[in-house]
Amino acid sequence: MENKKTNKETITSLCKQIQTYDKSADLDMVTLAYDFAKNAHEGQFRKSGEPYIIHPLAAAHILAYMRIDPIIVIATLLHDVPEDTTVTLQEIEDNFGAEVASLVSGITKLGKLKYRGVERYIENLRKMFVAMAEDIRVMIIKFADRIHNLETLDSLPQQKAYRIALESLEIYAPIAGRLGMDEMKSRIEDLSFKYVYPKEYQRIVQIHEERITGKEQYYKKVQHVAAKELQKAGIIDVLIVGRNKKLYSFFQKLQKKGNDVDKVYDLIAIRILVPTIADCYTALGILHKMWKPMKGRIKDYISQPKPNAYQSLHTTVFADSGQIVEFQIRTPQMHEEATFGIAAHWHYDEKGSHMPKREIQWAKELATIQKEVLNKLSDLEEIKVNFLQTRIFVFTPNGDVIDLPESASAVDFAYHIHTEVGNKCTGVIINDVMQSLDTPLKNGDVVEILTDKNRKGPNEDWLQFVKTHTAKQRIKSHTKRKKVTAWLKAVLPKK
Ligand code: MN
Repeated sequence: MENKKTNKETITSLCKQIQTYDKSADLDMVTLAYDFAKNAHEGQFRKSGEPYIIHPLAAAHILAYMRIDPIIVIATLLHDVPEDTTVTLQEIEDNFGAEVASLVSGITKLGKLKYRGVERYIENLRKMFVAMAEDIRVMIIKFADRIHNLETLDSLPQQKAYRIALESLEIYAPIAGRLGMDEMKSRIEDLSFKYVYPKEYQRIVQIHEERITGKEQYYKKVQHVAAKELQKAGIIDVLIVGRNKKLYSFFQKLQKKGNDVDKVYDLIAIRILVPTIADCYTALGILHKMWKPMKGRIKDYISQPKPNAYQSLHTTVFADSGQIVEFQIRTPQMHEEATFGIAAHWHYDEKGSHMPKREIQWAKELATIQKEVLNKLSDLEEIKVNFLQTRIFVFTPNGDVIDLPESASAVDFAYHIHTEVGNKCTGVIINDVMQSLDTPLKNGDVVEILTDKNRKGPNEDWLQFVKTHTAKQRIKSHTKRKKVTAWLKAVLPKK
């Protein structure tokens, strides 16, 4: 998405944008929130010298362009009011209701990030995880807030700009990625990249331009040919979209490939949106019939979704005159989820349902852990590894998705379902095959737990292979209880 000139953003343009996706939005309420915030921030200015209100207004625009639920947009307009002005949360609740007030309160609890060494950094992380676990919508507002701050970093002293950009790259972007908010993630990354690695940024921009210049026509032609062939095969409703440039992600891939530009193929990818999953596979077949696919580059993320639930078919082909082109094939629903992630579920939809499809269990677990153990830098590293990168999704026999750390076992799964299921589990069937309880689960496994009502409780040996905090704690507390009971039995007088 291109940068929009903030000075063209007005409350009128905000309302207009909201109306494009929510005809029944309460625009009076949106306008009221704007006037309320403008009044409250009267006399305050951004570092750039502009009136403060341009910041919440810009953040609200970022979300409105992502078609986010208007209630979140309203809270975004108000997000800095209690922190920076004399207006209280109570007044916000009186004027805008409990839901808006609760979102604003979540943001206020997060506070302004003031970097004072490692301690403060961890404290900020903690706050973020707690906020996330309480209401993920608060993070959506926080990302929009951060994106606008990154867009205006130039008005800050260099050292401060660097620090904010680094933190965004290291913490905000991975969290956005973990939540499946691809669009947020790449915007945060590209905006930060420039400040954290200025030289590399310039180099990547140059490579990008060299590879794109003069090729627009070629890509248009390839898109046109592909669309025509798909339509011939009966897939009428084909939408082909180009891809935003993702400079930081290109930079990372380049580093992985030993800086060999020719080995990074997906700088430009052509996205094909087709109505159904069956159409996705048909489309893949058609492309491969037209153009020879490159070995090892066909990826089926539909049957094996990525840990953040991303779904698509990917392939790289030798298109006309031997040019290498990557295709990503998906349904419109997959596209929406890939772009907005969990936020997608707070999009306005006709049925008026704004609930997430599944709970963000890992965020809750994280919040519990931070209360107990997060106090060293090594914990921070552990958390980054455990929660931001390596998670898997497995299924119950009913098709419910369960989110677990990589190489978690059936016992972790059982405790995730219910403490009693964990305590009474005796065996597991993974993908229709009987397995031992310590078998590491893989992404996409269908897991059925076998229980025995008469089982007394968990086996202490399970502690050697369980991965989740929840399972560890439950097993330990049960064994502790057992020991106390045994001790009581021994010391209490016999009946
Ligand atoms: Mn703000």
